[in-house]
Amino acid sequence: MTSSTAPTFDSPALALQGIEHAFGDHRVVKGIDLVINPGEVMCLLGPSGCGKTTLLRIAAGLEAVQTGRVCLDGEEIAGPGRTHRPPEKRSVGLAFQESALFPHLSVLDNVTFGLNHLPRRERAPRAQSLLEQLGMADHASRYPHMLSGGQQQRVALARALAPRPNLMLLDEPFSSLDARLRDQIRDDTLHVLKHLGTATLLVTHDPEEAMFMADRIALMRDGQIVQTGTPYELYCLPVDPFVVTFFGEVNELEGVVKNGQIETSIGTLKAEWLEDDTAVQVMIRPEALRLKALNLPIGEHRESHVIMAKLLGRASLVHLCAHAQNGEEAHLHARVPGVYLPAPGQPVEIDLDHSQVFIFPRRGASPR
Ligand code: ATP
Repeated sequence: MTSSTAPTFDSPALALQGIEHAFGDHRVVKGIDLVINPGEVMCLLGPSGCGKTTLLRIAAGLEAVQTGRVCLDGEEIAGPGRTHRPPEKRSVGLAFQESALFPHLSVLDNVTFGLNHLPRRERAPRAQSLLEQLGMADHASRYPHMLSGGQQQRVALARALAPRPNLMLLDEPFSSLDARLRDQIRDDTLHVLKHLGTATLLVTHDPEEAMFMADRIALMRDGQIVQTGTPYELYCLPVDPFVVTFFGEVNELEGVVKNGQIETSIGTLKAEWLEDDTAVQVMIRPEALRLKALNLPIGEHRESHVIMAKLLGRASLVHLCAHAQNGEEAHLHARVPGVYLPAPGQPVEIDLDHSQVFIFPRRGASPR
């Protein structure tokens, strides 16, 4: 692609190529390539400070590119020392955690504000339609100070979407809302984005939010993308331990490969793809542990047994003492759907859903 490339049907809505960025001598983005296809919702996920917002600001044009290129619809719009198209000329819609509305304008006027390019008669219907899709049609004549934080955020999203940008850039737009409201606004926003077919880059540090919203997720750590893929790929085919732990609590065991197998406190695991004597980290999601109560007296501690069980709401969390045949013990957590509250001391048999068990060679460990 060159700076004069004409948009084609197959052009990505956004392509970030070789982006690096530093504040002084602090390198915060370290060589990122990312493509968002037309109509795709991409979530940029990662812990605080890993560079997500900086990358979004570079895509928006709020931060000048230092190294790399930004292309929108196949056209280069920013590169170091060359092009830098300003944000207002990029056909991007922006919404942030606190998206300030114009206080002196009504809700309707806030949403029509960016529609000066349209004939006057088309502006209000376009704005009304978006307000309706975001559940705010009845509030069109109100002023921002008459709205709750969640309602203001809905209006901010409608305002950003009204000019029908080719790309929406959303930075933690739901994080200031309480949990119930957040779920509703997320759901409404997802439906509007999909209805309009707007390509979207959404920054979040919340893995559940990313899985709810995204067609694909790019998981970042320390200025780099660790894995890009569908929510299924990141959850079920993680490339390293960081990806596994980012999506929730895991039970961690250590072991050594012998004859293509690893002996653990919950049985033998296959690992034929690893060389013998490789030291490994075994990561088991709590939902991978399936429990069967054994018909043995409570307190029969030669078997694996329950330490305690807690109801969390949709699932129960069972703390277990797992016994290996060699006498080793491990404290594990099992997450069981619904209400499952066995008594402390209850002997159990532990079965594993191997699709939620991940084995990685231990970093820095020398073969034993
Ligand atoms: P969060 O989820 O907490 O918002 P983030 O992943 O979005 O974090 P960034 O906001 O991109 O991370 O910040 C990445 C790093 O760059 C942080 O260490 C931050 O302190 C630093 N940083 C961001 N903006 C600036 C700036 N304008 N000047 C100096 N340092 C900055």
